[in-house]
Amino acid sequence: MSESGAARADLRGNGPAREPGEPRRILPGATIGVLGGGQLGRMLVHAGSRMGYRFAALDPDPQAPCGQVAELIVARYDDLAAARELARRADVITYEFENVDAGVAAVLEAESYVPQGSALLHTTQHRLREKRAVEAAGARVAPYAVITGLDGLREAAERLGLPAVLKTAEGGYDGKGQRVLRRREDLEPAWEELSRAGGVLVLEKFIDFEREISVIAARRPSGEVRAFPPAENVHVNNILHLSIVPARIPDRLRTEAERLAVSIAESLGAVGLIAVEMFVGSDGTLYVNELAPRPHNSGHHTIEACRTSQFEQHIRAICDLPLGDVSLLTPAVMVNVLGQHMPAVLKWMERPDEAAERLGVAPKVHLYGKAEARPNRKMGHINVLAPNVDNALEWIAQSNIWKG
Ligand code: AMP
Repeated sequence: MSESGAARADLRGNGPAREPGEPRRILPGATIGVLGGGQLGRMLVHAGSRMGYRFAALDPDPQAPCGQVAELIVARYDDLAAARELARRADVITYEFENVDAGVAAVLEAESYVPQGSALLHTTQHRLREKRAVEAAGARVAPYAVITGLDGLREAAERLGLPAVLKTAEGGYDGKGQRVLRRREDLEPAWEELSRAGGVLVLEKFIDFEREISVIAARRPSGEVRAFPPAENVHVNNILHLSIVPARIPDRLRTEAERLAVSIAESLGAVGLIAVEMFVGSDGTLYVNELAPRPHNSGHHTIEACRTSQFEQHIRAICDLPLGDVSLLTPAVMVNVLGQHMPAVLKWMERPDEAAERLGVAPKVHLYGKAEARPNRKMGHINVLAPNVDNALEWIAQSNIWKG
């Protein structure tokens, strides 16, 4: 923090002479620096500005969604000078994606206050480290093997059985960097393709899951933790399509899923949000698939459907304010709007929505202000608030926006 930043912070009760990393209370009036200027950052800005915080974001794209709502530093994510500039402008730094450059993370930690730290990022940037951390927290992951060569892959496939999923340990998202192996003949081409980047691979047993769910937990530096009710997630082409809340799972699993997310947040010493994605096996076993130490697409319904949104909760957590009530106000289904859905969404917005009235649902539109609607690009989402999730799903079907 700069001298003037320290002085400003002092006025808000943030003592100037503190060790780096030591918890600080960040009060409204302070500037929150966001590494990444995408939709997650933009929705953080929406929630935080309402509370009186200021924002600066760093993103390589001058048209980034955050640029319309916050000061934007346009620079590459590994640009150390730009990271320093963000640190200079901000009293506290957070990030909206996990592949933060290690050098930048170090600069930000040394020159600003990063309550989330970099240890959790380091863990979640690598599938193996992540799985070990999940297991250490007492949660289950799909049986897996570390793969460093084709012979090892053959051996592991024999041991775990097929089908199995081969994944790169680093850099994958939305199903990129992974292949499902169904037959022995699939092994070699998958190995050739995924090992090209040079990193370690992971082979996971294919979980014949009944549903995918996620729980988003928030933890404060002081240790307070709260978990949002589980969302049931439906993917299409490996991209999240729907989050259905409440998830259609028995109460026992609901409680168990929340408990696992809380114990993972505690065991990893998370600060801020941590999203825990899980598979519900056909026998009711929960397997943790992935962690994300940031706001998550499966938590967007919380903006209208919960007493506190995930974005407000994240700000509360990193600023060390008491966490908000996570109760659900209404059943809801969040449906993502991708580039190919935009023309139909805009058409729908122009007309009175008779289906919504008939079904008693309120579809709330959130668009991220992205200029170019490319296929599969996340352009926005609609939170369909409803008397029950069936009516929300029926509205989505009747709207014809997501057909095909
Ligand atoms: P991930 O990139 O690990 O989140 O995986 C993307 C999607 O692939 C998941 O949401 C699942 O639908 C599917 N998937 C990943 N791993 C497995 C697995 N071990 N068993 C079954 N499906 C999986």
